[in-house]
Amino acid sequence: METKQFKAESKRLLEMMIHSIYTHKEIFLRELISNASDAIDKLYFKSLTDDKVGLGKDDFAIWITANKDARTLKIADNGIGMTEEELENNLGTIANSGSLKFKTENKLDDDSQIIGQFGVGFYSAFMVAKKVTVISKAYGSDKAYRWESEGVDGYTITEDEKKSAGTEIILELIDDTDDESYSEFLDQYRLKSLVKKYSDYIRFPIKMEVTHSRPKEQTEDEKEQNKAPEYEEYIEIETLNSMVPLWKKNKSELKDEDYKHFYTEKFYDYNEPLRYAHVKNEGNANYDALLYIPSKAPFDYYSKEYEKGLQLYSNGVLIMEKCADLLPDYFSFVKGLVDSEDLSLNISREMLQHDRQLKVIAKSIEKTISSELKKMLKNEREKYEEFWQAFGLQLKYGIYSDYGMNKDKLQDLLLFTSSKEKKLVTLDEYVTGMREEQKYIYYASGESIARIEQLPQTELVIENGFEILYLTDSVDEFAVKTLHTYKDKEFRSVSADDLGIDNTEKQEEIKAKEEESSELLSELAKALDGKVAKVILSQRLKSHPVCLTSEGEISLEMEKVLNSMPTDQKVHAQRVLEINPGHEIFGKLKAINEAGDKDKLTKYAQLLYTQALLIEGMSIENPVEFSNLICELM
Ligand code: ADP
Repeated sequence: METKQFKAESKRLLEMMIHSIYTHKEIFLRELISNASDAIDKLYFKSLTDDKVGLGKDDFAIWITANKDARTLKIADNGIGMTEEELENNLGTIANSGSLKFKTENKLDDDSQIIGQFGVGFYSAFMVAKKVTVISKAYGSDKAYRWESEGVDGYTITEDEKKSAGTEIILELIDDTDDESYSEFLDQYRLKSLVKKYSDYIRFPIKMEVTHSRPKEQTEDEKEQNKAPEYEEYIEIETLNSMVPLWKKNKSELKDEDYKHFYTEKFYDYNEPLRYAHVKNEGNANYDALLYIPSKAPFDYYSKEYEKGLQLYSNGVLIMEKCADLLPDYFSFVKGLVDSEDLSLNISREMLQHDRQLKVIAKSIEKTISSELKKMLKNEREKYEEFWQAFGLQLKYGIYSDYGMNKDKLQDLLLFTSSKEKKLVTLDEYVTGMREEQKYIYYASGESIARIEQLPQTELVIENGFEILYLTDSVDEFAVKTLHTYKDKEFRSVSADDLGIDNTEKQEEIKAKEEESSELLSELAKALDGKVAKVILSQRLKSHPVCLTSEGEISLEMEKVLNSMPTDQKVHAQRVLEINPGHEIFGKLKAINEAGDKDKLTKYAQLLYTQALLIEGMSIENPVEFSNLICELM
């Protein structure tokens, strides 16, 4: 008989399991029961539409059998079973298993953490067993197979006998050592309490033969002599779990840790959720829901691989693992499940999309999420900021996408860093803090806060005592442009032409200077050979010699973002070079121009333009030329 090797990753996890010194070895039972329950779910779902299954809801069960003499523990189910191929693919490799993929991509180095915190599946059996045997018969197949393995050396698959569809998993427990007891997993009280602790909500009965003892019936004589009764043992089949799913229980019955434990286990996240809501909705839509806001973004969250969705149950029966229609994209980070009696069990995926009732439920869920986020923002600011770090970007995309259709719903969930205390503020906080004479909500874009703070364009606004929102994500400026206004206040870039800051005197002074120097300014523009739309005298600069701004819809920041996207069409902001008329350099330029030194003026123009580009954090076209120019002038 050929012994097959485990796939490389499986072998690694297996080794991890076997050498685990983790104290929570007990979770193997929860994992095997959960697999059994999933397998029953699948056959039960089939049985609803297919009479050939021949089993009703009450016929399905999971059986636990402990055999102290043989030191074996058996977990059996009458679920869907596995074919030979499935045994090979599902148990010979775990390359597809969510947990390992997560672990590999996140480079978690603490093995015990993942073992303890969330599903590690079938392989956890090797934490307690020196040999694992799986006997399985797939529904609809007439052959059964036996999969056997003693660990890393590999496994064998042979044909076997089994009456009906389902799977039996037999664990031959590791021998007890001085430090470790494995026999405890044969003890009925221990098993009972483990099922209660981890698997109480499993929807199918978990049954076990439990041995009790009772006093033997006494004869009249014995009774008269007041003899102590003798005890006898008898066996009773007990159902160990209450079978009520967590979300169907009363909120008052549940503790914080019940919700959190359920989350980490069910949604493969080893971080506790930031917030959860247990919803019991009645009226236009009848459903129970558990909604969780994770504390960290999954590794693939901002990629195409990430699939949003909530688990969908119809009256306790799982009908879809990830129902995307229940969550709008901007709330795609929410995990959880919905159980509704309003949905038909037999509904197909295609029909579900058009189901009116599902849409009603989705609307109601969206409202709940939104109000939970607002509550968190109001009452738990620190937590909300943690949330914002993880998922703020998604909300900003939400503002910008669909032509701004959802901006009203989302705008009060936004946070931006403000210039005042370098703290995150809401738009409402910003507007409330606006000075009376302030017309606009000012913002400045750049790749980091440090960079923005150095932008010459911010000088005038800051000097007037106005707050600036710092936009550091590439989507920010697009979101702000989509919002356009908040509470009737318009957003305005610090680079904008008109900053709405009233200093008519200065403006007129600069206008006069501009007219005076019109020849110089147009010479400078000419020298830059189309790189800028125009050269002007700046109203906003205080200490810096130059800065670069733009006219029209596309800002320099937006140009950077749009041009970094993988398309052929490049966009160009209409650049404006602003020169500080109060700066020494302006006098120099005037002198050179008056002396008629065209060559020198061209070089100065190029230098100033390149400087402005550097300040903006834009790339310069010809660094060598720039460097040569500087040397020459030095
Ligand atoms: P996961 O449950 O996370 O997918 P596991 O390693 O626990 O990973 O199981 C791998 C796969 O093996 C399951 O997805 C399922 O297809 C199959 N499997 C495990 N146990 C059973 C069972 N009792 N009955 C039928 N299939 C099972």
